Amino acid sequence: MHRFFISEDCLTESVVAIPSRLVHRLRHVLRMKAGDRIVVLDNSGWEYEVELRTVGAGRLEGVVIGKSPAAGEPQTRITLYQALLKGSKFETVVQKCTEVGATAFVPLICERCVAEEPAGNRVSRWQKIILEAAQQSRRGRIPVLYPVSRFKEACESAAGIAFMPWEGEVERGIGDVLRRSPEVGSAQEVSIFVGPEGGFSASEVEFALGCGIKTVSLGDRILRAETAGLVASAVTLYEFGELEGGYKVKGD
Ligand code: SAM
Repeated sequence: MHRFFISEDCLTESVVAIPSRLVHRLRHVLRMKAGDRIVVLDNSGWEYEVELRTVGAGRLEGVVIGKSPAAGEPQTRITLYQALLKGSKFETVVQKCTEVGATAFVPLICERCVAEEPAGNRVSRWQKIILEAAQQSRRGRIPVLYPVSRFKEACESAAGIAFMPWEGEVERGIGDVLRRSPEVGSAQEVSIFVGPEGGFSASEVEFALGCGIKTVSLGDRILRAETAGLVASAVTLYEFGELEGGYKVKGD
């Protein structure tokens, strides 16, 4: 069943006013008609099964026939602090990490960043990619894209268990950090710092350590920056038991 995020003001107790931007897609692209069903989400963590009905030319409504918690939303909230990357690599990061379950993204300016700060419609393009990936992967909430942040400010504001994949780390892995953290079990807040194509500088690593951010290895292979965030997010969710099945897909 197709899923769409809508703003909460489109939803009353039992009726959904389908926004006009969606009416066109439902009617003319997906060729849906009265009686068909879709799932709508208001970004609250709930999802609503609705049956479509026409209400006059060009307008569609949905009658709510079911409400349930959006099971595709992880309990563990990962904020990925990703250094700005060249080309479309940042788009790959936000798309893939949305699919796997990250809940927020903070674009970082690091010493070795070659990429410029996003200009023009680049940020709205990233937000569109996040929305589409959240719908496609059946997330219950849309991950948040925060404004670009400077590295030191980000280190000082990182919440929960914070770690930095760093290829210079040869002893500690993600599991060591997560399993040894006193908060594990209750903590559901994880901050992950991934560097740019040229990596973190020695002074950035030192500053992060000074802020209590632990360096971890992702193995003996050097991953591309756009791969490292995905691997670190997936391993973290696995460690928290969030990559197990059991999600009954509605109506598939
Ligand atoms: N110094 C790297 C090199 O020799 O090519 C460049 C940095 S790597 C392309 C980009 C980022 O991915 C790093 O800043 C780090 O955050 C992460 N990363 C890549 N491979 C890693 C590994 N094996 N262990 C930990 N972090 C890694």
